[in-house]
Amino acid sequence: MTSPVTTPVTTVRAVAHIHSEWSDDASWPLDRLAAAFRKRGRNVLLMCEHSRTFTEAKWQEYVEACAAASGNGVLVVPGLEYNDADNVVHIPVWGEVPFLSQTPDIADVLAHTREADGVAVFAHPWRRNAWRRFDPAWAKDLTAVEIWNRKYDGWAPNRQARAYAEQLGLPPFVSLDFHSARQFFPLAMELTLSGPLSRGIVEDALRDGRFEALAFSRSALRLTSGVGGVALAAAEAARAVAARAVRTALGKRK
Ligand SMILES: [Zn+2]
Ligand SMILES: [Zn+2]
Repeated sequence: MTSPVTTPVTTVRAVAHIHSEWSDDASWPLDRLAAAFRKRGRNVLLMCEHSRTFTEAKWQEYVEACAAASGNGVLVVPGLEYNDADNVVHIPVWGEVPFLSQTPDIADVLAHTREADGVAVFAHPWRRNAWRRFDPAWAKDLTAVEIWNRKYDGWAPNRQARAYAEQLGLPPFVSLDFHSARQFFPLAMELTLSGPLSRGIVEDALRDGRFEALAFSRSALRLTSGVGGVALAAAEAARAVAARAVRTALGKRK
């Protein structure tokens, strides 16, 4: 008698939207990021470098650097964050998508990503009112919408972004938008993999929607409403006031 063959289901925790020294406004090297997140129990880094200083040659070099920084149970997945010409709409893209240009039209980014069977996410829709510029026709080419971006939304999810994602019929994404140690925070994307950990298998999980947004190891959606959500929103309001006070005390030193 033969036993049925079952595909093992593995879940891994990813950190999303990570900038390294390959972005013009971040400074951490890839291997330092891999080590720091390995220590925090993460298996995948969904990297996201600003497109504005890239070229096709630099992209190829970067893909190799990400592979070289992977190992010991951590996979560094290369990705770019495309922004439009006046830096309003930001679209993180993953997959085997050839480099497009430094500040492309968003419609072109999405068409290009679709052709290459890549993955595109709408980042921080409330930053600079990017959502106002969003063409609902774009939704069909998106995999998810960031409802909690640690850099812009702070310690609490963005309820408007969550409602907006729901309206578009897209699942939520939680991201660190890591630029410096200030953005370490217990947000993760849990991915369900269909095979051994590799760049292609991670991209498949994203493309197929096999992911869940977690905050503090539980569904991030629980924190967009209810008692926990109210407490976090209050904590974020207090944090924002404190952070402004510190910046003022430091004389707005950058
Ligand atoms: Zn951005
Ligand atoms: Zn970013």
